[in-house]
Amino acid sequence: MRAYDVIKRKRDGEKLTQEEIQFIINGFVRGNLPDYQMSAFLMAVFLKDMDEEETFWLTDTMRLSGDLIDLKGITGTTVDKHSTGGVGDKTSLVLGPLLAALGLRVAKLSGRGLGHTGGTIDKLEAIKGFSCDLSAKNFVEAVNQVGVAIIGQTGNLVPADKKIYALRDVTATIDSIPLIAASIMSKKLAVANKVLLLDVKVGSGAFMKKLSQAKKLAELMVRIGQQAGRKVVAVLSNMDEPLGVMIGNALEVREAIDTLKGRGPADFTQLVKTLALQALLITEDKEVTKQIASSRIEEAITSGKAFEKFVQMVKAQGGDVKMVENPSLLPTAKEIIPLRTETSGYISRIDCEEVGLSAMMLGAGRETKESVIDMSVGLELLKHVGDKVEKGGILANLHVNPAKDNTKAIDRLMTAFHITAKKVKHLPLVIEIVS
Ligand code: URA
Repeated sequence: MRAYDVIKRKRDGEKLTQEEIQFIINGFVRGNLPDYQMSAFLMAVFLKDMDEEETFWLTDTMRLSGDLIDLKGITGTTVDKHSTGGVGDKTSLVLGPLLAALGLRVAKLSGRGLGHTGGTIDKLEAIKGFSCDLSAKNFVEAVNQVGVAIIGQTGNLVPADKKIYALRDVTATIDSIPLIAASIMSKKLAVANKVLLLDVKVGSGAFMKKLSQAKKLAELMVRIGQQAGRKVVAVLSNMDEPLGVMIGNALEVREAIDTLKGRGPADFTQLVKTLALQALLITEDKEVTKQIASSRIEEAITSGKAFEKFVQMVKAQGGDVKMVENPSLLPTAKEIIPLRTETSGYISRIDCEEVGLSAMMLGAGRETKESVIDMSVGLELLKHVGDKVEKGGILANLHVNPAKDNTKAIDRLMTAFHITAKKVKHLPLVIEIVS
């Protein structure tokens, strides 16, 4: 077999076989296929697409390129959740403990943020002492004892994705449905969770700008997961603005704590409850009605059980429990600067990338892998899409370190808000369920 012939067949829109896909991916991971041939292959897939069977083989070949995590030793139904990416996305911090309070097991591998996106691990590290670096044995023990543990990804999980993603990033081949589906699902299926909850974002701040594309991606990922023997459900949610109110590490931990206590922003709370509801509906053997499942979720929050699971998780992972019991002890910025609008009207869009970059420039994220995060800084969005604003009114508060020059971050945040004279319809956060 020659890489040239496989690339040519895909370029001409033909369907590839399992062997051809394995030849390309394994060759690239082992260093037998140069970057220029892999780039050509990726562009051919981008332009000519792959069908479901090809995408399944691509996913499976990538999944098998490195370590597999069997989760042996964890008793009960293991659930994982994945979001296709967003700004202000602290869903895992709330959903993990909530699912644990509902009797499920959440053995979660999460990542760090880079550039304009935040990462679950960085957020949790805003809690003094919290460690996402557990040994496999301690991870299993923590999940069995508490019901939830969140750790960083191991070094050799799906190396094919690391290499391919780096090339996609510089060859304009990121936003391809089969390539995104294979990238996400290869990592999810490398860990032997029984249930997968997918939060597929759609809108200006997401990879998928149109609902039809997001739905196609969600359906493809659900079917790939099901073919691999997992129970999978996808929730399509709106990313025309950041999720919730807070962006920044300690600020997001505070919002997560508020939400676990039933005092979170309405739309973020709705997303968490929708994901939890889908988890219960898909995992329960017996017929559980939506009503029963919803009331169990309400009870887990109002009784304080979900928050208690969060406290137990923090304790099991070495974090300072006092900080979560009393969030005023979390890192706090020295100064708050209000951002005032210069025009009146309605907010039509809040550009997620600009918001994320503004937070990063304040110090909440990393510009390079080596940057050190300031856990205390970030943004508090006081206005959302559809809200009416008057000239001089406050759009957001910037939580800053005054020792830094924050002018560029302030300007950037201002450009993120799009205001129109016409009334704007507030889009729902949860758009559709795909199962
Ligand atoms: N997230 C991933 O892990 N991979 C993609 O290709 C896109 C989003």
